[in-house]
Amino acid sequence: MARVFVITGPSGVGKGTLIRGLMQRFPELELSVSATTRGPRAGERDGVDYYFLEPEEFERLIAAGEFVEHADYAGRRYGTLRSELADRVRTGTPVVLEIEVQGARQVREAMPEAVLVFIAPPSLEELRSRLSGRATDDEAEVERRLRVAEGELEARREFGHVVVNDRLEDALEQLTQILARELGHAPGRD
Ligand code: 5GP
Repeated sequence: MARVFVITGPSGVGKGTLIRGLMQRFPELELSVSATTRGPRAGERDGVDYYFLEPEEFERLIAAGEFVEHADYAGRRYGTLRSELADRVRTGTPVVLEIEVQGARQVREAMPEAVLVFIAPPSLEELRSRLSGRATDDEAEVERRLRVAEGELEARREFGHVVVNDRLEDALEQLTQILARELGHAPGRD
């Protein structure tokens, strides 16, 4: 049974919201906390939302081989630490990663048993309006993310599953079915 789930796709597509929904439905699912060199947004907590690292510390961890995958995204570094996965893989605890496309490719290479799901927006225009409406990033950051997104959308065919997040409830339902199949049981809670 697959136990490592990778949710990828462009920034603003709703990966985080979908994962929160999945975690309610499958309470045994645990979230891998990523490391990043970007600063915390309002309300984000170190060790909960991310491990917020200085660039030097991030480099040191790369050199020490501590990352399963890492990528540059819109001028910042992001990565999944081995320590987030090792124990869970060993004990068979299902774990979910929310990462961008370059990282998802690296996980696919390193862990062929991982289940990869690409979340796509209904259109680039819709993605733009979601990113702008989020109010966490300024206009320049939104533009940077949209430029990256154009490339990321071309990668959708590389992944085993593609879920279009048009209506959130429908997308969550499709994801739930994928996980139910892989975990071998129906969701525990709704
Ligand atoms: P944000 O700055 O909006 O939190 O994240 C920017 C992008 O980086 C999002 O697409 C997010 O999914 C991705 N990301 C978050 N953590 C990781 C990680 O550990 N590795 C990679 N490759 N991407 C990540």
